[in-house]
Amino acid sequence: MRMFSDKRTKLNRAAASARTEFATEFDFCFACTDEWKRNLAIPYVLDIHEMARGGSRKVAMGRRECWLRACRAHHVEMGNLGVWPISRQLALKKLRDPAFYDRVTVNRIRGQADDSITEEEVSQWDAEMADIPRGRTHRTIRTQGRSSGERR
Ligand SMILES: [Zn+2]
Repeated sequence: MRMFSDKRTKLNRAAASARTEFATEFDFCFACTDEWKRNLAIPYVLDIHEMARGGSRKVAMGRRECWLRACRAHHVEMGNLGVWPISRQLALKKLRDPAFYDRVTVNRIRGQADDSITEEEVSQWDAEMADIPRGRTHRTIRTQGRSSGERR
């Protein structure tokens, strides 16, 4: 019989379902809300960006902790870690989807040490995050500032 492939199919379906739910919950770009719609040069589509690359990305595809919702322009831009280092991506996750913000899990999925990116590194983006468009769904959510990272 085909038990293995059936099992794999179920896992993939569960991941696909979670991704669909995430996409439905967030119908705006985490980085610019709806501003991208005013630029006709940007395709009228939202993507899910994973905060991981290479082999880690396969795991990240199934883990909401790793997901950002992004317009095509920001999705492309986030592929450039010089512009969007993972600490900045995590700060955006913390702002837009705080219930699934998990810095240590993202570090682990990326094959790094638990504190390879620290809470302090994420918090350095708080001022910028306070300035980006609020978005409809999470208009009232504020970043918490520094939480646990006072380790210097
Ligand atoms: Zn955008």
